Amino acid sequence: MSKKFDLISEGTERTLGRDAQRNNILAAKLVSEIVKTTLGPKGMDKMLVSPTNEIIVTNDGVTILDEMQIEHPAAKMMVEIAKTQEKEVGDGTTTSVMIAGRLLENAEKLLDQKIHPTVIVKGYRMAQAKIHQILNEISLKITPDNKEVLKQIAMTAMTGKGAEEEKERFSEILVEAVQLAQIKNKVDAEDIKIEKVVGEGIKDTELIKGIIIDKERISKDMPRIIENARILLIDFPIELKSPEIETKISISSHSELQNFLDEEEKSIKIMVGRIVSSGANAIFCQKGIDDFARYLLSKAGIYSCRRVAKDDIDKISKATESKIVSNINEIDSSILGEAGTVEEIKKGGESMTYINGCKNPKAFTILIHGGTIHVVDEIKRALVDGLLDIASSIETGLVVPGGGAIEMELSKRLKEFGQTLSGRERLAVEEYANALEFIPFTLAENAGLDPIDILTELRGKHDSGELNAGLNLFTNKIENMLNSRIIEPSKIKFQAIDSATDVATMILRIDDIIASKPSKRGRMNDAGNLPSYMDSLG
Ligand code: ADP
Ligand code: MG
Repeated sequence: MSKKFDLISEGTERTLGRDAQRNNILAAKLVSEIVKTTLGPKGMDKMLVSPTNEIIVTNDGVTILDEMQIEHPAAKMMVEIAKTQEKEVGDGTTTSVMIAGRLLENAEKLLDQKIHPTVIVKGYRMAQAKIHQILNEISLKITPDNKEVLKQIAMTAMTGKGAEEEKERFSEILVEAVQLAQIKNKVDAEDIKIEKVVGEGIKDTELIKGIIIDKERISKDMPRIIENARILLIDFPIELKSPEIETKISISSHSELQNFLDEEEKSIKIMVGRIVSSGANAIFCQKGIDDFARYLLSKAGIYSCRRVAKDDIDKISKATESKIVSNINEIDSSILGEAGTVEEIKKGGESMTYINGCKNPKAFTILIHGGTIHVVDEIKRALVDGLLDIASSIETGLVVPGGGAIEMELSKRLKEFGQTLSGRERLAVEEYANALEFIPFTLAENAGLDPIDILTELRGKHDSGELNAGLNLFTNKIENMLNSRIIEPSKIKFQAIDSATDVATMILRIDDIIASKPSKRGRMNDAGNLPSYMDSLG
């Protein structure tokens, strides 16, 4: 049922009731179908080609959805949950989108049985609350010094990604970085910078006890390397006239102009003099450094970088224990930080500054090496997943078995909970439980195993009390995931459940779509059809 709507302007399309629901559910399902094939270690990659022919090869759910430029409104809501998941946890995007898709698909069955959407929504919310309770009950507790477990978590996160061949070493690097950066079980992932350089092999990837910035020194006359660096961080310009402040000066004679320039030069000289007498031999300035200042700094043998990103200044500050000064009068020896070396290093045709050998760094850099830009980009995505998973595990201290084990156990317990309910919400709770099985089902399917057989076996194990039984895709066998060391942070699951439930219930509540723009590519047409490029994916 789709008709012209004359209360509002002509050309506005309105889709109502079941048509609206079906249309939205179909769109959401298609989004979940798109990412499904990438789930798990045996998932496939996707090659994304942008309109300008740039290529990304990735296995990462949120990257795929982000690059696809999806326009259908409900599909866009699905993309949003991937982004929320990415923002909140950094991993588990494919999982959250898939659960949401399956929740909606299963809801459709209930709608067909004339169960009202509000009943389904209520049942789904009850299931969500129950899952939280169960997750809290059955998660395993860990502490930050549990190095082995943390390493396993990072390895699980990176399995099947571009980082595969070196994931063991990468995990060690990540654990070391996180343990050094944590302060009372809190890790700010921002303190660990992941830089990449094209050139040399993946196995040259290294942990730097300090910061690397993609800036070179501003003059070749400055020393290329400074030993026993005393570091000054400045967030104001060292320039004759700051371009940010438009000062108006009226000058009527040549001598007045000369006077003015002399004054300006004098102030630069004073600034540089102050820097020199503080004992600083390396400076990082967030703003500009002009030619005259550059000349003076070179003469004084001070390694200088300008227009350094604020983020980087903050990280250098954390790594070297230097204060950031915003006023020339604050400059003196007490605010300087220290590093073993500050050095310009050229790798893969690019010059970068290494601030290394910091004594008690609270910020680090992991420098990824790899043959091509596609390789280093995909490794970076994998490392970020590993890093954030370690950070979430330390933060909450809770982890769960992977390989579909936790989803099977949640599903089983949710079904038992459903049995205790009497209303029609019970059917929704049961459908929620079924939706969770989509994860182990797909892990098996993507690995070319028979998903029905695997699910049957998994159900059997969980029914007989083996709550850690999951699918190990290294051996293709059902095993105790803790023994197989396939472990994930509980936070991934909490968040995936929350975002999936949010979007599914939101979409279910919609029974009226009013599209005010004329249809173009990617929009629904008046029959409520999806754009043709999405059809082909179904
Ligand atoms: P997401 O974007 O949801 O994180 P991934 O492609 O990273 O998707 O896959 C995560 C899933 O893969 C999790 O369910 C995790 O338990 C599972 N997994 C990871 N390693 C293994 C393994 N060795 N065997 C089976 N499943 C695994
Ligand atoms: Mg993952």
